[in-house]
Amino acid sequence: MPTQTQIGLMSHEELRSEHERQSEKYAQLKTEKLTLDLTRGKPSPEQLDLSQELLSLPGSEYRDGNGLDCRNYGGLTGLPELRAVFGELLGIPTENLLAGNNASLEIMHDVIVFSLLHGTPDSPRPWSQEPKIKFLCPSPGYDRHFAITESYGIEMIPVPMRHDGPDVHLIARLVAEDPQIKGLWAVPTYANPTGAVFSEEVVRALASMPTAAPDFRLFWDNAYAVHPLVEEFEAPLDVLGMAAEAGHPNRPFVFASTSKITFAGAGVSFVGGSTQNLAWYQQHLGKKSIGPDKVNQLRHLKFFKDADGVRAHMAKHREILAPKFALVLQILEDRLGASKVASWTEPKGGYFISLDVVEGTAKRVIGLAKEAGIALTAAGSAFPYGTDPEDRNIRLAPSFPSTDDLAKAMDGVATCVLLAATEKALG
Ligand code: PLP
Repeated sequence: MPTQTQIGLMSHEELRSEHERQSEKYAQLKTEKLTLDLTRGKPSPEQLDLSQELLSLPGSEYRDGNGLDCRNYGGLTGLPELRAVFGELLGIPTENLLAGNNASLEIMHDVIVFSLLHGTPDSPRPWSQEPKIKFLCPSPGYDRHFAITESYGIEMIPVPMRHDGPDVHLIARLVAEDPQIKGLWAVPTYANPTGAVFSEEVVRALASMPTAAPDFRLFWDNAYAVHPLVEEFEAPLDVLGMAAEAGHPNRPFVFASTSKITFAGAGVSFVGGSTQNLAWYQQHLGKKSIGPDKVNQLRHLKFFKDADGVRAHMAKHREILAPKFALVLQILEDRLGASKVASWTEPKGGYFISLDVVEGTAKRVIGLAKEAGIALTAAGSAFPYGTDPEDRNIRLAPSFPSTDDLAKAMDGVATCVLLAATEKALG
């Protein structure tokens, strides 16, 4: 979408008066002394309440369907029945999916650390003994992914995100040439923060492209696999199958969790992969844990019962979330549509809306909003090293605030966007 068309067409006089109008609105906004937060994509208390029953499960039962005493040590793979439920949702056979503790981010972190210290099954040597390790980072992307790779000194190469996934032509060229590129971060369904859903062509290209590194890995974070804001669920694309078919069975590591299904702080995480990858992961995991929290896994199993139970539960989340997203989109359209100083994504699922403001003004918008008591995610946080080269992207997280707060916050954000745009245009 073109930006600045209208502002760009204004005469100097018109610009000055628009700037004055927005300055007055902004001064008014500051008198409201707001304290609103649009930063993190957390479920709202109302969403957490949907899973309240979990707190009284599994009751006095402590055995899974196979008779395993979930109170005891062991069971490193996680409960097979729960793995089957989420395997169906993710399109992964039960034997290729493990269930873990509450955070999939922890598993992603561990896979990287194990690769650095031990190397993967396909690595000539541990990654840490390589002269340099690089990761491709579709951007804008998830800040915590980039934080993991940055913290271990892995060089991050930004790759543009499109509506159907990252730029695969660029990726294919880079990985074919450079053996130091060992991984790619990916959120294939309702990506954080753009909401993009990878197309089958993109997934197939990523799964099958030749890579100079024999141990190249897709870090396939399917965090929002069952989180549509519309009625239809996205059919899971079989990245493991496609990679195996192309002769690269060990390429993808798939991650998921119930963090935005049940309790964000007390859910169950999952990791999927080839037999060899999972054996490798468990070999190293077994040194740090005797087994995951199986009582938590059991209560999730009893709560959902089957994949349809999860789908029905997600429909309740949708009823809460969809109106909030619609509200944000409506305010963006009403306040910014005509002036053409911004463009934004209209996601069909996930937790975020990605807002692009006039180039060079995102920091200013976020600063103005902060001064008016509206917390927005730090400028550049969706980019490697926290640097948005165009200083234009802002990640909006509509899930946590109440509808009233959200409306106030978004109206305030729109004022800040317009004020910053007129300031910039006036030079
Ligand atoms: N992956 C993505 C893309 C996310 O957006 C988030 C949370 O915002 C997570 C992972 C965190 O997952 P978990 O709670 O399982 O660690």
